[in-house]
Parts: sequence; structure tokens; C-alpha cells
Amino acid sequence: MYINFLKEIEDYVNHEDIKMNEMMQKHTSFRVGGPAKIFLTIRSREILRKIILSLKNYNLPYFVLGNGSNLLVSDEGYDGVILYLGEEFTEIEVEDYKIKAGAAAFLGKVARMALENELTGLEFAAGIPGSLGGGVVMNAGAYGGELSQVITKVLAMDENGNEIFLEKEDLLLGYRTSVFKTKPYIILEVFMELQKGIRKEILAKMEEYTKSRIEKQPLEYPSAGSTFKRPEGHFAGKLIMDAGLRGYRVGDAQVAEKHCGFVINLGNATATEIRTLMEDVTKKVKEQFNITLEPEVIWLGK
Ligand SMILES: Cc1cc2nc3c(=O)[nH]c(=O)nc-3n(C[C@H](O)[C@H](O)[C@H](O)COP(=O)(O)OP(=O)(O)OC[C@H]3O[C@@H](n4cnc5c(N)ncnc54)[C@H](O)[C@@H]3O)c2cc1C
Repeated sequence: MYINFLKEIEDYVNHEDIKMNEMMQKHTSFRVGGPAKIFLTIRSREILRKIILSLKNYNLPYFVLGNGSNLLVSDEGYDGVILYLGEEFTEIEVEDYKIKAGAAAFLGKVARMALENELTGLEFAAGIPGSLGGGVVMNAGAYGGELSQVITKVLAMDENGNEIFLEKEDLLLGYRTSVFKTKPYIILEVFMELQKGIRKEILAKMEEYTKSRIEKQPLEYPSAGSTFKRPEGHFAGKLIMDAGLRGYRVGDAQVAEKHCGFVINLGNATATEIRTLMEDVTKKVKEQFNITLEPEVIWLGK
């Protein structure tokens, strides 16, 4: 099946955009993950449409990769096709209070564009190391802000290669969730509406958040940010700390000393070590506080 699929796409995908057995550790902020059978960089919507149809035709599994900053990929890798939107999907346009940006644009870059245009509403996003598409899927947020506050609609491609607009109410944006968690749509473009702000104030907020991240988060180690979602009425990091797990290790995976909500890779952690550590943490917190932690990090693999 894969051979026929490859033969078909070789007609319209550049040779250098097709990689076989690409190590996913190169594409995740955890720096962990085995080989993806096929890794495709997509250069246009038309190519994406054709690929989606071929994938459907051969019934092959696929996964859309953003910036890999909320992703834990199995050590065995991914037995399917990774779709990675290339720089052709990174354009950012600003008109009045509105921003339209490609799904592969970095959240930090979109936030900086807002700053340059004196628009307020995206200050919280400046330090989130994801793509805009990944940000929408996760409804990324921090410091009281989240993408749901600025998104008005999304242009996506469905499983039949059709482009569809999803209005805000269709996006089902909630705490670290959206419609994209259950529907196989690929985000192409995101439409946002911000408010007029004052450059100095926008910049001051961004600097304050950056300072707070540097002070509180173990940014010197690979991680995927907060490993667990915030259980209602609690903070995952605090529960983990109170369970006595600060610095707890499985191999090179560790509950960060600096911030117990982060699992970090001390150097050579494997996905198995990270998962085992996450399971141990979940079990201990359940035993001690009767609270079930849910992973925020997305697992890719068997
Ligand atoms: C140091 C650090 C700090 C962080 N701080 C925060 C924070 O403050 N707040 C926060 O919310 N998160 C934070 N994160 C987590 C992460 O950056 C966000 O969840 C981010 O939005 C993920 O985006 P991504 O592009 O990396 O997505 P990925 O990790 O690549 O993918 C996440 C999900 O989105 C899907 N996806 C990606 N692109 C598309 C697309 N175009 N169409 C359809 N599906 C797509 C993927 O299939 C996957 O299911 C942090 C991570 C790190 C490493």
C-alpha cells in the first residue's frame, strides 16, 4: 500500500519533501520519538488535497504535525504518514484589528505581529512554542488568555480534501480542547480579531510573561510544557509536589525540580521512560488526593 501511495505522490511532491523513516525526536520539543514511516512536507493546499485523497484511497493512517511542542512520540515511532505544513503556510496578514495567519505560523511570531500593529489580545501567546494550528487544536493559553478569546473562524480541509470554514461556535473551544481533537480536519488558516492597544503596554505585558516563564519554568531542558491538564479547582504541579514527587525520576525523565507540572528530558530520556513516569505520577496523585490527572501532552504511537 505504501509503495503505491509513494508512487502516486511522487508525481506532484518534490523528492526532498518526502522522507522515509524520519526520526521524530528531531521534530518534538521533548527530543524524543522513533521513526515515522513517511514524513511529508506540504507546500500548497492543492498538494495537501491530493495527498489527503491518496491517503484515503489507500486507507493509510496519518497525523498532522505542528511544531511538536505538545507531543510525545513512541520510541518505536509512527507507522503512518506525518503531514507537516511547510513555510508556504506561515503567512501572516494584518488588516485593521484583524489578523489572518497560516496554520504553520509560529504563535510567537503572530503575537509579535500583533505588537507591531499595536493590537492587544495575544500577549499571552508570545512565549508558547507552538504553531498557530497546534495552538487552535489545544486552545493554547496562559496568564488568563487563550486563543478562543481572539479567534473568529478557521479555514480547514476535511477528510475528503474539501476546504471548509468553521465559525467560532463550530470550533468547540474549551480548556485545552477543540473540535479538532475529534474531527480529522486539517487547519489551514486562522482568522482572529484583536483590539487596538498601546504598544508600550502590550510590550510590557509580553516582557512580564517572558520573565515569569524564565523564572518559573525549566526552559533549559526539553519538555512539552505542562504535562498534565489542570484538574478543576487544583494545579497539577502543586498536587505533584505535595505528593512528594519533585525531582522524581525514571531514567532520564524527571519531574522538574523548578516546576513540578513539567516533565523534562535530562538528556537521553525515552518515550517509555516519560510515559512510565507519567503513570507513576498519576497513580501517586490518585492515591494521595483521589484526583485523576489527565495528560495534556498528546501521545503518538501504539
Ligand atoms: C516550554 C513550553 C511551554 C509551553 N507553554 C504553554 C502554555 O503556556 N500554554 C499552552 O497552552 N501550551 C503550552 N505549551 C504546549 C504547546 O506549546 C502548545 O500546546 C501548542 O499549542 C502546541 O502547538 P504545536 O504546533 O507544537 O502542536 P503539536 O504539538 O505539533 O500538535 C498538537 C496537536 O495539534 C495537532 N495539529 C497541529 N497542527 C495542526 C493543523 N494544522 N491542523 C490540525 N491539527 C493540527 C496535532 O495533530 C496534535 O494533535 C508549552 C510547551 C513547551 C515546550
